[in-house]
Amino acid sequence: MNDATAARPNAPTNPLGVHALVWVGGTTPQQVATAVRQTADAGYDLLEISLHDAVNLDTAAARAELEKAGIAVACSRGLAFDADVSSDDPAVVERGEKLLHDSLRMTQELGGSHFTGALYSALGKYGAPLSPQGRANVVQVLKGLAASAAEKEMTLGLEICNRYETNVINTAADALRLADDIGADNVTIHLDTYHMNIEEDSLVAPVHLVGDRLGYVHIGENHRGYLGSGHIDFSGFFGALGEIGYTGPITFESFSSAVVSPTLSNDLAVWRNLWTDGVDLAVHARSFMQAELDKNAA
Ligand code: MN
Repeated sequence: MNDATAARPNAPTNPLGVHALVWVGGTTPQQVATAVRQTADAGYDLLEISLHDAVNLDTAAARAELEKAGIAVACSRGLAFDADVSSDDPAVVERGEKLLHDSLRMTQELGGSHFTGALYSALGKYGAPLSPQGRANVVQVLKGLAASAAEKEMTLGLEICNRYETNVINTAADALRLADDIGADNVTIHLDTYHMNIEEDSLVAPVHLVGDRLGYVHIGENHRGYLGSGHIDFSGFFGALGEIGYTGPITFESFSSAVVSPTLSNDLAVWRNLWTDGVDLAVHARSFMQAELDKNAA
């Protein structure tokens, strides 16, 4: 926690995070250094690094930057259609499984303990429902990944994504069923207001349904731009987080064509320029989220 937060009476204890794509489009050492510095300057506690395009990521150098700045890290990713653990094709599943284990190791090398995202499928529009064999493959691979994570004292997150980005889990109820089938204590649920807006009946009931199995949160507007400029019911959502006593990370996620990742931006259909100044965006988002948390503490 930074000094401003620590000094406030009744301050909530949630670490506040920001997605690296607010700052930079890639993970070269220079880009990571920029992202870490701007995360700290904007008053955040945590930087989320996507491992979607992490070929240039120097985990040792990045860890040194994070530790120097006192910034925590979490990692996220989705898979790809040619490396997808929800496929019926064993060779495609095997490539996806390798990506997951490589990414878990990179998260550990960065000093992170939480690896989350669409760990169960590609990020993209599927042309058919998930098959029974595909679901069985997801469960089998994630059981193995969870066991590996447990040995490293790490946790996994199942980020619930909308129907245009996955056919595996679209609602909190879907995610809880999948987590039950995986059956590991270190597999948690990751809610994202952007996806919930498309798929859930409300932004409140799913928070209560997930309850103490909630491990990570993404805060995004319905168009993924400035918080408060769209129509998401953030008061309802943050109120529900307070009601379940959630103390885990809350990470601001926003994308614009102004900052482009070579593959992730296309997978997420980021075609519009919703903002140009990531610093202004992130400073605004941090104070917006803190104000919502302060309502719970008051
Ligand atoms: Mn998200």
